[in-house]
Amino acid sequence: MPGKRKRVRIAWTAAALATLATLTTAALTPAPATATGPRQAGSYDIQRCGNTSNRVLLTFDDWSYDNSKRAVQVGEYLQGKGIRAAFFLINEYASQYPGTVDTLRRQGHYVGNHTWSHPHLPQLSEQEVRTEISKGVASTLLRPPYGDFGERETRIAAELGYRMCTWTIDTLDWDGPGGSRTASQIRAAVKDAPAADKRGGVVLGHLFTRYPDVLPDIIGDLRGQGYTFCRNTGATTRNIPAVLKC
Ligand SMILES: [Zn+2]
Repeated sequence: MPGKRKRVRIAWTAAALATLATLTTAALTPAPATATGPRQAGSYDIQRCGNTSNRVLLTFDDWSYDNSKRAVQVGEYLQGKGIRAAFFLINEYASQYPGTVDTLRRQGHYVGNHTWSHPHLPQLSEQEVRTEISKGVASTLLRPPYGDFGERETRIAAELGYRMCTWTIDTLDWDGPGGSRTASQIRAAVKDAPAADKRGGVVLGHLFTRYPDVLPDIIGDLRGQGYTFCRNTGATTRNIPAVLKC
């Protein structure tokens, strides 16, 4: 759907300009718009990242640029709730804090690849795409920055041992003054999402927004609606299975 893809890009550019105008220290890396790639690869559902359970998988992208410990703090909170989440860290930042990835995995979370420097992969050469993925967090799941990918990126990722992973619910948490929507907007984006996107779904949010702050409300809302979360069954490894253990 080339027409749709173009519209998405234009929307993102306007949003980016608005966001960049108000940025201070947060959000050095802009956040995703709408995933542009295919949704299905054989029986593997790219939007659900291998989550074939009925449980909700919470995901956390990028990095918290003013607090290097935020990922680990979020991981600890969720572990305490018995919840397994997935983190897709920009390795250009995460690699400056060795031990972060291992700690998250010890906490029982999946940690996937979000490339080295968060580029639009389709705008790069084949070799540049390979380098961006190869220098990312070593794993078997790749979340393409901005959800921007096509057949070439899917092929290269597969050659490097990765499955693509996007989302069913986009909180659009980055889309507000200072690089974040309000807590109530983020909460509503999840609570009011269609049931089909929640059951067995994948929620996208970012470490640099108010999304982590509103987790207690999101968890309470969804549990109140009868949903459950991916269960934390202990430490994980870099090899995230094609069928997630949720
Ligand atoms: Zn990202």
